[in-house]
Amino acid sequence: MTNDAPPENKYPGYPKVFDRCPCCGSTERLMRSIAQEEASKGRVKEGFQTGLHVFQTAVRDPRVVKLAGSPVPAATVIVDVCTKCGTLFAVMIDRGEITLQADVRQAPQSPLYHRSGN
Ligand SMILES: [Zn+2]
Repeated sequence: MTNDAPPENKYPGYPKVFDRCPCCGSTERLMRSIAQEEASKGRVKEGFQTGLHVFQTAVRDPRVVKLAGSPVPAATVIVDVCTKCGTLFAVMIDRGEITLQADVRQAPQSPLYHRSGN
């Protein structure tokens, strides 16, 4: 094992990788082709995964206080576009945890708070 190997995922079956366009079956997608060109020039490592957009969301209830540094469950989805038919689709779905950064809280916004003369 090298240091480049991804850490083992504790969620069985993840990450899920979708290699083909769900509409036309093509494996050609925009950001993959750009990443492959960049890898051939040595600007990124072979196998670098990227897409048009990376979504990452943590499952966090704002009513529950958590300390900075606490792990919370999170999901990551990478989306790319098929260069044959133009379909946007998820190319990778992953589960994991992210570490909370320092939390800056604001007072709840209430219409009463902004009234003048109160
Ligand atoms: Zn397609």
